[in-house]
Amino acid sequence: MQHTPQLFHSFGYYLKQQFGRKIRKLSLHGDFSCPNRDGTLGRGGCTFCNVASFVDETARAAPISQQLQLREQELKRKADAYLAYFQAYTSTYGEQVQLQKLYDQALAAKDIVGLCVGTRPDCVPDGVLRMLAEYQAQGQEIWLELGLQTANDQTLKRINRGHDFAAYQDAVTRAKHYGLKVCTHLIVGLPGEDQQDALQTLDKVLTVGVDGLKLHPLHIVEGSVMAKAWRADRLATISLESYAETAAKMIQATPAQVVFHRVSAHARPPTLLAPDWCADRWLGPQAIEAILAAEGGQGSATAAPFRAA
Ligand code: SF4
Repeated sequence: MQHTPQLFHSFGYYLKQQFGRKIRKLSLHGDFSCPNRDGTLGRGGCTFCNVASFVDETARAAPISQQLQLREQELKRKADAYLAYFQAYTSTYGEQVQLQKLYDQALAAKDIVGLCVGTRPDCVPDGVLRMLAEYQAQGQEIWLELGLQTANDQTLKRINRGHDFAAYQDAVTRAKHYGLKVCTHLIVGLPGEDQQDALQTLDKVLTVGVDGLKLHPLHIVEGSVMAKAWRADRLATISLESYAETAAKMIQATPAQVVFHRVSAHARPPTLLAPDWCADRWLGPQAIEAILAAEGGQGSATAAPFRAA
C-alpha cells in the first residue's frame, strides 16, 4: 500500500524528495545487546519488548555482507537503493571501533546510501555522535533513532525503560549539536496512559526538537513481561479505533517538516498475542489516513500544515 503523501510527510515521500528515486530501509542485525537486558541497567528489559517480534534473530550470527546480500535479493524489486537499518537491541551499544567497523561494512555495500541507527537515549556518547556526523558530512543519509516511547517519567518507570525524559532531552541536545537528524519512537496505549498523555508526550518531544517520529500501538508479544500481565487479565490493549484517533490527532498536531517514519506497527505471527488487529500491517495506517482525509492532514492543528510538493 502507498501512503498518500498529501496527508502526512511520510519517510518514503521524504526519501523520494531527497534522492529522486525509491529508497527503502534494509534491516540488519549488528549482534548488539542491550544494557537493559545484559545486567548493566537491568535484566528483564522493557516490559513490552521481545526483539524477536520485529527482527529475524537468526540473522544475528551472519556477517553484515551476507545479511545485505540476503535482504537485497528479497527487496530487489521494491527499491532502487537502501538505508542500512540497525534496528535490533541497542545499535550503538559497543566499543566505538567495533561500531565503526560494522557501519563501514554496511556503507561500503553497493546501493547503500546511508544508515538508520536505533538505540536508547542513554547509549549515545559524544564519540558515537561525532562518528555518525562524520558519515553525514561525507554525504551519507544518517538518522539516529531514539526509543523514548513516552515522555512521562512515571510510565517510563512502570515499563522499566531504565532512563527518564531528561536522558532523552540530553541525547537530542547533543545529537543536534552534531547536526544529526533524530527520529523518536513513541508508543500509544501504554499502561495508565490515555490520549491526553500521548499528546503531552508529543508536545514535549516537539518542544525539545525532532526531525522524525515513529508511532506505534502498544502490542503484546510473546516472551515479554507484559505477556504475563495480559494473560492474567491485568493489561488491556488499545482498539484500532482509539489508536487511529490518537495517532491522527498526533499527526495533525505535528508541524509539516517532521517526517513520519511510521504511523503504526505490526508484529510477526506467532509472536503477537494482542491486539489482533496488529497482525495486519495495513489496518492501522488505513484507519489513520481515513481520519486525516476527513479532518485534515499533518500540521492541520498547527500554523504550518503539510503540503506535498
Ligand atoms: S526495547 Fe530496546 S532498550 Fe528496551 S529491552 Fe528491548 S532492546 Fe533493550
